[in-house]
Amino acid sequence: MVRAEGVHKSFGAAHILKGIDLEVAPREVFCLIGPSGSGKSTFLRCVNHLEQINAGRLWVDGELVGYREHGGRLHELRDREVAAKRRDIGMVFQRFNLFPHMTALENVMEGPVMVRKETKAVARERAGRLLDRVGLADKAANYPAQLSGGQQQRVAIARALAMEPKLMLFDEPTSALDPELVGEVLDVMRGLAEDGMTMIVVTHEMGFAREVGDALVFMDDGQVVETGHPREVLTNPRHDRTKAFLSKVL
Ligand code: ATP
Ligand code: MG
Repeated sequence: MVRAEGVHKSFGAAHILKGIDLEVAPREVFCLIGPSGSGKSTFLRCVNHLEQINAGRLWVDGELVGYREHGGRLHELRDREVAAKRRDIGMVFQRFNLFPHMTALENVMEGPVMVRKETKAVARERAGRLLDRVGLADKAANYPAQLSGGQQQRVAIARALAMEPKLMLFDEPTSALDPELVGEVLDVMRGLAEDGMTMIVVTHEMGFAREVGDALVFMDDGQVVETGHPREVLTNPRHDRTKAFLSKVL
């Protein structure tokens, strides 16, 4: 579903991603861990067409990110084409950034109505089902300010799902939450995984990575240091940098 080959990304003189190679299979829960500044968010932003890579190749769902092939040649995508591609990818951030002036239900309906031009009736029906799926059927009429952080994050997940993405990216979705609210968000993510959603999850929740993850990558300084099954990497890290990192977070 996602394949990176020698992906490089720089911001000016700052070389951030230094040749990332990885592969995420369909239906896989792919966890990404690493110290602050190692390039995890930057990588997700490249997958989500928010950043252009400088070298290497990156495919999402069999298509090269940022380019289209025409007559055997690669052409850079136009902004409108990039926006269309981005719609197939759901992204959930650390901060829930819901629209404050819309109810939970309206937040979930917004994308399908505004972007996909669905009728409100169709969008409302799906939004209701999705709120039910994240355990918030009874909060549909609440505004974000009337929801806890965990509830807001679950609405954010429902909102991403409303676009029927083929891939979900999570960037530390529980890092901004009070500890007692983390579990309810991880439970929703676990349910998504069980339903077969392909997910890349940047997280500090090693318990989630161990129990739900199919693959784990440890990134440091813009490089993939170690990759393997989460239980293997977490209990038996091979590289000193992985060991040092895990000794701090476990
Ligand atoms: P954290 O765990 O703190 O979220 P991260 O692994 O997600 O860290 P990134 O956010 O990808 O790290 O950042 C990697 C490096 O790239 C950092 O040094 C950051 O300052 C730099 N960086 C990220 N985005 C930009 C940008 N738009 N312009 C310049 N530098 C950037
Ligand atoms: Mg980050």
